[in-house]
Amino acid sequence: MTPSERLAHDGHLIDILWARTLRRVTRTPEGCWRFNGAVTSGGYGCVGSGIRSQTITTHRLAVLHRDGFIPAGMTVDHQCHDTQTCKRGVRCEHRRCCNPAHLKVMTMAANNRRKVWMPPPAPPLTADELAALEAEKVALLALLFGESAA
Ligand SMILES: [Zn+2]
Ligand SMILES: [Zn+2]
Repeated sequence: MTPSERLAHDGHLIDILWARTLRRVTRTPEGCWRFNGAVTSGGYGCVGSGIRSQTITTHRLAVLHRDGFIPAGMTVDHQCHDTQTCKRGVRCEHRRCCNPAHLKVMTMAANNRRKVWMPPPAPPLTADELAALEAEKVALLALLFGESAA
C-alpha cells in the first residue's frame, strides 16, 4: 500500500500533514504554492507521511486533502506546468507546486501524453522564403540530374 492509499483512510493525519506543508509554502506571482521544504529526487515537494519512514509528495497530499482520495492507478498532474515553455524534468519549479487549483487527477496515459514536448508550430513561410526554397530545389535537382545527364 502506498502512503497515498494509507493516508486516504486517515483524514486527521492528512489535515496535520497538510497544515505542516502549508507552513512552508510561498505563493508565486503565477499563483503556484511553491513548497520550500524537502524535494524528492524527481524534484517534487515531499513531507514525511507519518507512516514508517515513507514520504508523500506535497501535490498528492494536496489532492488527498481536497478530494479525500486518489483513485488507484491515477496520477496527479500539474496544470500550471506548460509543456511548451517549461524547463523539463527535475528543474521544473512547478513540481514543487501544491496549489490544489493547479492539480488535476488523470490517468498515467493521459499524463504521459502531456509530458511529450511538442515544438511550437512553425510560422508559415513568406513568399521570399518559398521562392528561396524553390530555387534551392532547382539547384539541387540540377546538381543531381543535370550533370549526370550532360
Ligand atoms: Zn502551480
Ligand atoms: Zn513546469
